[in-house]
Amino acid sequence: MQNNNDSVLTFDKGVIARRAQVKLSQGTLPRSGTPQLWGGSGCGVICDVCEYPVQSAEITAEIQIDRSILSLHMHPQCYAIWEAERRAPREAPSEERP
Ligand SMILES: [Zn+2]
Repeated sequence: MQNNNDSVLTFDKGVIARRAQVKLSQGTLPRSGTPQLWGGSGCGVICDVCEYPVQSAEITAEIQIDRSILSLHMHPQCYAIWEAERRAPREAPSEERP
């Protein structure tokens, strides 16, 4: 079962959202703070959300959280998912459905 879309990678929003949730709960990804986006181009760096490499054609988002500077690199799609997840009300972490 493959979706042959035009997208570079097959971004499964549900899978990435779950990864973001885990990273948020582990503290790998910050839940609070004011991110500042810096335009840039990835050069094979690993996306901090989905852990796929960010290709050179894609945008990199470096996030600066208030006092501490955190350089995260993520795809635009992953940034949107992270934003949505960290703003979403916390639910029970064990929401696993096949
Ligand atoms: Zn990503």
